[in-house]
Amino acid sequence: MRSFFYGTLWILICLVIIVAPLFVLMIGPIPPGRGFWREFSVGIGFVGLSMMGLQFFLTGRFRHLTSPYGIDVVYHFHRQISTVGFLLILLHPLILFISSPTTLLFLNPVYAPWWMTAGTGGLVALAVLILTSIKRQAWNIRYETWRLTHALLSIGVAALSLIHIEGVGYYVRGPLNRWFWIGLVTAWILSLLYVRILKPVGMWRHPYTVEEVIQERGKTWTLVLRPEGYPGMSFKPGQFAWLKIGKSPFAIREHPFSFSSSAMRRDRIDISIKELGDFTSKIGEVSPGTRAYLDGPYGTFTTDRHTAPGYVFIVGGVGITPVICILRTLADRHEKRPLILFYSNKTWKEMTFREELEGLSGRLNLRVVYTLTDPPKDWEGERGRIDSAMMARYLPENRVECEYFICGPDPLQIAVKKALEELGLPLEKVQSESFNFI
Ligand SMILES: Cc1cc2nc3c(=O)[nH]c(=O)nc-3n(C[C@H](O)[C@H](O)[C@H](O)COP(=O)(O)OP(=O)(O)OC[C@H]3O[C@@H](n4cnc5c(N)ncnc54)[C@H](O)[C@@H]3O)c2cc1C
Repeated sequence: MRSFFYGTLWILICLVIIVAPLFVLMIGPIPPGRGFWREFSVGIGFVGLSMMGLQFFLTGRFRHLTSPYGIDVVYHFHRQISTVGFLLILLHPLILFISSPTTLLFLNPVYAPWWMTAGTGGLVALAVLILTSIKRQAWNIRYETWRLTHALLSIGVAALSLIHIEGVGYYVRGPLNRWFWIGLVTAWILSLLYVRILKPVGMWRHPYTVEEVIQERGKTWTLVLRPEGYPGMSFKPGQFAWLKIGKSPFAIREHPFSFSSSAMRRDRIDISIKELGDFTSKIGEVSPGTRAYLDGPYGTFTTDRHTAPGYVFIVGGVGITPVICILRTLADRHEKRPLILFYSNKTWKEMTFREELEGLSGRLNLRVVYTLTDPPKDWEGERGRIDSAMMARYLPENRVECEYFICGPDPLQIAVKKALEELGLPLEKVQSESFNFI
């Protein structure tokens, strides 16, 4: 109920921020009209800009804002609404060019006043920002390079747009309009300061030390982190945090990882990391004693948010990390409800945490269904990918009442959601965590 309240409240606040520039325009002395298309294009430009400004808040990882929906949904919204904002801002000059072709001259910096050139520059920067975000993976742009460019371009776009508005000056001369824009821009700056200064200061005051680096099956390493001189972070089982390791908390490089230890222990936080790219493939080389910082907890992939008579977990590969955290927590809480885990991997050898899962099966009412996509000849367990037929063999009669948690690569998530639909399970009972939402 609380989450629904905040969820609705944030949507209303977003809508108010987006349309506010139009209402502010109508308050106080209104300058003489300049024809419908010109005014329309200006209105669209203002709405587009306030939509883009909203992104400073959406990407600031404000916990109150992200917790009702989950941070992946907030990032998804950020992507969609930025594209809409970009299209509106693009329409602003296009309408002007069509309704009054002489304005095309403003594209040429030799003839254009400086504020028009600032507007053109802002639009070009915004186009680069959107394109590099959509095409990051296809164009093989390193995540870190993209992230830094993305942050700098966003600030550049905001600054150039404000210069443009101030230079044109037509609608921002009135005191109310002026204060409105000053207020809005101050809020953008405060949000940036919070993300870049305040949050890192908080992390700097709450450091962790790597106590142990444990090699697990499946090219995975567990970092055991101990809080230095304070009780540690409290989190819900299944949540995650952004990790900075061996660097200052102000460094831009950070990576999201699920907690893998029990949420009942704040004084020891485990993070289990699979070797994948340039950062993760060196994780086994981290030495005990290295300092680490965590920004979290985030995420809604947790059994604590969903009451049900039983839980079903469907996992592929390293997707086991949030689930082992949930299972360890439930075991520490002496959970009695039935639990089923479908766990898919290529081979038996790389089944991370499989020995511990056997132990947890003794402490919990847990059934683990292992499936291998590359099984040896004598393998007696399930074979191949998880589908509706495989799940139907193990799911209990009250399957519709259970809550389902999926974590694994995108193809597994798509296939499992389809399989659950085939089994007649309502999708609102299905929670999923994507390690690839950025
Ligand atoms: C909510 C969440 C929880 C996760 N939990 C775990 C976990 O418990 N264990 C685990 O092994 N992995 C987890 N991951 C995945 C992990 O964050 C990526 O594998 C890791 O960041 C890849 O970094 P890399 O530089 O080694 O790989 P690269 O090959 O450089 O990157 C591979 C892809 O990972 C993503 N990525 C890279 N760097 C970052 C970054 N700094 N922030 C966000 N995404 C990035 C990008 O999409 C990139 O294209 C999780 C991801 C998310 C979103």
